[in-house]
Amino acid sequence: MKVRVKKELIDGILSYSRDMHPREIILLLRGKAGNDIEVNEVVMPPGAIQGLGFSGFQPHMLPFDLSIVGVVHSHPSGSSSPSVHDLNHPYGRITMIAAYPYRSVDDVTILGKGGQMLPFEVVAQ
Ligand SMILES: [Zn+2]
Repeated sequence: MKVRVKKELIDGILSYSRDMHPREIILLLRGKAGNDIEVNEVVMPPGAIQGLGFSGFQPHMLPFDLSIVGVVHSHPSGSSSPSVHDLNHPYGRITMIAAYPYRSVDDVTILGKGGQMLPFEVVAQ
């Protein structure tokens, strides 16, 4: 399985993470999921809580939407490893983590449902 993410999306997530720091951000990832996953858009989840040391949303408030491929949240601690909570509560097929200092794609990690690191490609379009 390959994951492709638009460059402007990564840049947007990194700058939003910087703006919100030290709060933790959470956004839904929207795109196409087949054998490969394409991430094209981010959406603010309903009932989003973006706090100090935690973030979350209300999954029951989500419309049934097959275009949601996963969730991105930030780690203001700077750790790129998933927390126990991240591993136990995946939502969608991929979990993206943007770790402090949110400088570049090197600060971004994508995990699959089992918590395994997924290689991903940043695409211009
Ligand atoms: Zn986390």
